[in-house]
Amino acid sequence: MPWNDTFECMPLEELQKFQLEKLKETLAWVNERVPFYRRNLEQSGIRVEDIKSLEDVNKLPVTVKNDLRDNYPFDLCAVPMNEVIRVHASSGTTGKPITGPYTLEDLNQWSECMARNLWAAGVRPEDVLQNTYGYGLFTGGLGFHQGATLIGCTIVPTSSGQTERQILIMQDFRSNVLCCTPSYALTIAERGKEMKVNFKDLPVRVGIFGAEPWTKGIRQEIEDRLCIKAQEAYGLTELCGPGVSYDCEVQDGLHINEDHFLAEIVDPLTLDPVPMGEKGELILTSLQRRAMPMIRYRTKDITRLRREPCACGRTLVKMDKIFGRTDDMLVISGVNIFPSQIESLLLDIEEVEPQYVLIVRKKGYLDQLIIRVEGKPEVYDAGPEKRTEVEGKIQNHIKGMIGIGVQVHLEAPKIIARSEGKAVRVIDERPKQER
Ligand SMILES: [Zn+2]
Repeated sequence: MPWNDTFECMPLEELQKFQLEKLKETLAWVNERVPFYRRNLEQSGIRVEDIKSLEDVNKLPVTVKNDLRDNYPFDLCAVPMNEVIRVHASSGTTGKPITGPYTLEDLNQWSECMARNLWAAGVRPEDVLQNTYGYGLFTGGLGFHQGATLIGCTIVPTSSGQTERQILIMQDFRSNVLCCTPSYALTIAERGKEMKVNFKDLPVRVGIFGAEPWTKGIRQEIEDRLCIKAQEAYGLTELCGPGVSYDCEVQDGLHINEDHFLAEIVDPLTLDPVPMGEKGELILTSLQRRAMPMIRYRTKDITRLRREPCACGRTLVKMDKIFGRTDDMLVISGVNIFPSQIESLLLDIEEVEPQYVLIVRKKGYLDQLIIRVEGKPEVYDAGPEKRTEVEGKIQNHIKGMIGIGVQVHLEAPKIIARSEGKAVRVIDERPKQER
């Protein structure tokens, strides 16, 4: 049984009626309270009362990340600050951070969305959940914490870092649920191996991973190395944090909490809606948030939606694992490539570790993709001839699958910096205007 079968298993017609009602409510709310949205609506000539069906949502103007930066920190806030009881923010590595204020009601809804996510991964009140997401401005730590609190399991709030201590606590406290980023799960697996920990003997049975894109190949690596089931959590600070969508036990697409988020897929160039089942950019509208509702937020994440019966019984629409982000797309010699494609191909090669960095450089007029990937210790130690052979094998595989020539450097084990949170996988060294 899902955590909330009323909403998670709601018949489509009823769900859409609910969504439409909440969409109109949200629009009226922001139109009255947020000058940015009021201006946008006026300029587009759309009145709140023009929205008569869910399809009408695509008449509304989109909101982009820069709108959030321009209105930093609280100009998009729809309630007075005395009703805001918490503020989160994104790290802001490429500009001002994105802020997320919450009312008490917003926090409760977020907890509900996260409880659904954790419950779907099999978390129950008797479990011990080790939460290694950073506690602080980042939404990961407290988001998972709140969902787990609602379920009533035992939380071990280790926060991020100190991998050895994480593993000792895992052993001593008998943690059986692990929450972290996928790249950190690999770091834990590797450190554990060095500490001679046999993960088979640990009680950890499931991990809930999110906050960075990861391929099915990485999921498999994590499942094999940690001897657990790896479930996904998807979300973004702009919409509340994690809790937007989640894996069920079937692990075939993430169910979106549709009573809280209205999802659309559009062509990223024209913003025209694409038919159900086709790939495009995910756009999300919050349906129940009060402090900072989002109208048609462009996530830049490329995925597709599928509305089909799921063996878990949930009726919520499913989105595929994120294929890539529109701004992560690399154009190498005229071919569009997402880092996730390269990751998948690297994981096909048994001689390498799932630790890599992609470097994009300009050589003359041509873009060049350089892949630094770690060899397995026995492969690397076998000498330069073996290394060259593996490099050639990777080059041929990539050339064969996506048709571009790349340079591969097989690196010594442990040379690439390990992630304690979000991993850095792409370094673009081209001048900004030429990307
Ligand atoms: Zn399902």
